[in-house]
Amino acid sequence: MAARDAAGRRAVHEQFANAFYSSGAWKRCRRDYADSVGNMCERCRKKGLIVVGTRARPLEVHHRIPLTLENIGNPAVTLNWNNLELLCKDCHEEERQRRQQRWRVDADGKVTARGT
Ligand SMILES: [Zn+2]
Repeated sequence: MAARDAAGRRAVHEQFANAFYSSGAWKRCRRDYADSVGNMCERCRKKGLIVVGTRARPLEVHHRIPLTLENIGNPAVTLNWNNLELLCKDCHEEERQRRQQRWRVDADGKVTARGT
């Protein structure tokens, strides 16, 4: 029962995010942002590596402040270039893992920093 509830919540959240990710506003924003940083992974570039996206491994635009049900309707968060970072799949995965270690999600989907 609890597991089904959790799955239901996740599905709602994904649907919410999917509507945003398929919006013209996001696609334009993502493309313009990627162009503005030269279509290269920003973290690899800081390490002196030029990593460009390919069709098989496209670069991904990462939100520094993660999207939530509360902020997904707020363009100052979702479409703000200051909140974006262009990453290759490896850097994005590294970021996801780092974030999972730093944050905890309780049964209600509330995210808190570990140790608080
Ligand atoms: Zn990278």
